[in-house]
Amino acid sequence: AVPVRPSETRSTCPYCGVGCGVIIESADGQVTGVRGDPAHPANFGRLCTKGSTLHLTASPAIARQARLLTPMLRDERGMAPRAIGWDAALDQAADRLHRIAREHGPDAIGFYVSGQLLTEDYYVFNKLAKGLLGTNNIDTNSRLCMSSAVAGYKLTLGADAPPACYEDIDQADCLFIAGSNAAWAHPILYRRIEQARQARPHMKLIVADPRRTETAEGADLHLPLLPGSDVMLFHGLLHIMLWEGWTDAAWIAAHTEGFEALKAVVRECTPERVAQACGLRKEDLFTAARWFATAQATLSLYCQGLNQSSSGTAKNAALINLHLATGQIGRPGAGPLSLTGQPNAMGGREVGGLANLLSAHRDLANPAHRAEVAALWGLPSVPATPGKTAVEMFQAAADGEIRALWIACTNPAQSMPDQATVRRALARAEFVVVQEAFATTATCEAADLLLPATTWGEKNGTVTNSERRISRVRPAVPAPGEARDDWRIVVDLGRRLESRMGRTPDRSLFPYDTPEAVWNEHRESTRGRDLDITGLSYALLEQAPQQWPYPPGAAQGRARLYEDGVFPTASGRARFAAVQPQPLAEPRNSRFPFSLTTGRLRDQWHGMSRTGTLGRLFGQVAEPCIEMHPWDMERQGIAAGELVQVTSKRGSIVLPAQPSPAQPAAQAFIAMHWGSEFLTGVSAGGEVLAGVNALTTSAFCPDSRQPELKHAAVRIEKA
Ligand code: SF4
Repeated sequence: AVPVRPSETRSTCPYCGVGCGVIIESADGQVTGVRGDPAHPANFGRLCTKGSTLHLTASPAIARQARLLTPMLRDERGMAPRAIGWDAALDQAADRLHRIAREHGPDAIGFYVSGQLLTEDYYVFNKLAKGLLGTNNIDTNSRLCMSSAVAGYKLTLGADAPPACYEDIDQADCLFIAGSNAAWAHPILYRRIEQARQARPHMKLIVADPRRTETAEGADLHLPLLPGSDVMLFHGLLHIMLWEGWTDAAWIAAHTEGFEALKAVVRECTPERVAQACGLRKEDLFTAARWFATAQATLSLYCQGLNQSSSGTAKNAALINLHLATGQIGRPGAGPLSLTGQPNAMGGREVGGLANLLSAHRDLANPAHRAEVAALWGLPSVPATPGKTAVEMFQAAADGEIRALWIACTNPAQSMPDQATVRRALARAEFVVVQEAFATTATCEAADLLLPATTWGEKNGTVTNSERRISRVRPAVPAPGEARDDWRIVVDLGRRLESRMGRTPDRSLFPYDTPEAVWNEHRESTRGRDLDITGLSYALLEQAPQQWPYPPGAAQGRARLYEDGVFPTASGRARFAAVQPQPLAEPRNSRFPFSLTTGRLRDQWHGMSRTGTLGRLFGQVAEPCIEMHPWDMERQGIAAGELVQVTSKRGSIVLPAQPSPAQPAAQAFIAMHWGSEFLTGVSAGGEVLAGVNALTTSAFCPDSRQPELKHAAVRIEKA
């Protein structure tokens, strides 16, 4: 790596899963600038609008306005919190968790963490819940982001391991982007796509998305499929490939199983039926099938349009089926590559920080895996009862089953679907702890105890991006106020709990004084697993970010998986998934005649706790609105900018309507970012709620348990 000056620190952008390298400039303990790291293979020096303004979000003025600077305790709900010291805060937390676990069992406690935590933070949270307390009730906002991708990979390829990498963009002849507006959600990756298309003018870009997004606008072929019809589309493409003889029979015979069962399903998916079910032209289906199957190398990139769905696993699997049927995998430029929403959703999966996983891609449901993790942690066992996933956890708290909620680095009071249930959960839980860098989130308002955490520019550890690349996150400046690193807060809490549970310090499960010590334990847990990184070290990561796997003796990480055609399944063969197309959880009907879809803006991030502090990031879109097709507005007599009331079964919000030719008729779009300071709503029961998730449904995929945040049936009326 190119050396940096003493006043400069290499780190990683904390926003999306592209995982761009940054160089932080600092002076006198303050961040003074940021630029892209030319040596980082995710971005080669480029940054998008969000990344290039990171230093402005780290200013002392913003720290004073928006940061949580000291532990705060609310003596009673509704009262203003008062500052208390760390020792008092952590003693209070340990006492209350210990009492709740003793009186009601450990499953009365739930931890809800974040894909924005570092791998080290995630690891100790997981060990605290599953190892020390004995509950699998730890889930994360990655459940809202990538769990369908995880389930899709495991169902078809046998492991949660994205097979392709960013380099494949430069070598692909056909790019198939499904359910992703990469131009806005993953801007630096999209720049790479633009460059690759310039360098390889024959490359075809197909985009499957109901909306004509900026990504779809730039495509050679846009497939504006109806919301929820993705499996039908993918099966229809496979039907055509079979009919035309574009599948790779030799590769299928050598490396897969289950093709006959899938063929029986796709037999019914004729071009006529698929065109009608998806709202597409037959000739476009033929073009897409031909380009995908006959290109030298086809790479698929996909994101929340597939994942945030009540049939998200089936959508992921049906797309991977296409790669298996055409042998478009395990070669340069070919394969499925899920784009991670958050910066470290991958790291969280690696340490098993979800309710159904264990360390190093082990499965909670597997007794041998539980025994391996118990042995690694020096415990007789880890609990077998499946933990509650995100939606289930908040429902259990609303029902009184979970009594303590510990929330770290995420804002469920805005980001979870069906906000009314989440608000009831936060109100009913007897102890709510929020561990956060920012004091301004809606969830902070519900906390009994607020614990100030460090954030970008201050944190130390690692993250893993969409292409399995582990990068160092390094501190450039000291934390403001009394903020502490997330892993440190968990370790301090864990040691207190251990003393209350009668564990002596010499047997502590948390013998760490540095994030590197945590990471080294995580590294050991990967030995012999698909993501084996036992050949890697912090020292090697100091030199350059590396992809996993990185076993002992490796000179570098592996860019691409399954090049030998062997898959991590019992038979060594990839599995076709004979999934059936499923309807939307909530199809539109005469009472709710519009499909509402949600998504990102280019210049905002999640609930805007960081990007919302900068006026310049409101330049692209200044305020919330609902985008509608001009015909729909005309038919209802709605003028541009006029206020409309948008109502689903769960609640309603009022906001201006704007005409957008990108919107198909009978569909509308609201960006996900706007919180209560911009967009309030009311539940069907009259509670005041925040943002678009006043409307969304918590119906989830039965396999991945990822909720259908992308679609709700609504009606739109003049306010
Ligand atoms: Fe950060 Fe993503 Fe932008 Fe890269 S593309 S600078 S990781 S927000």
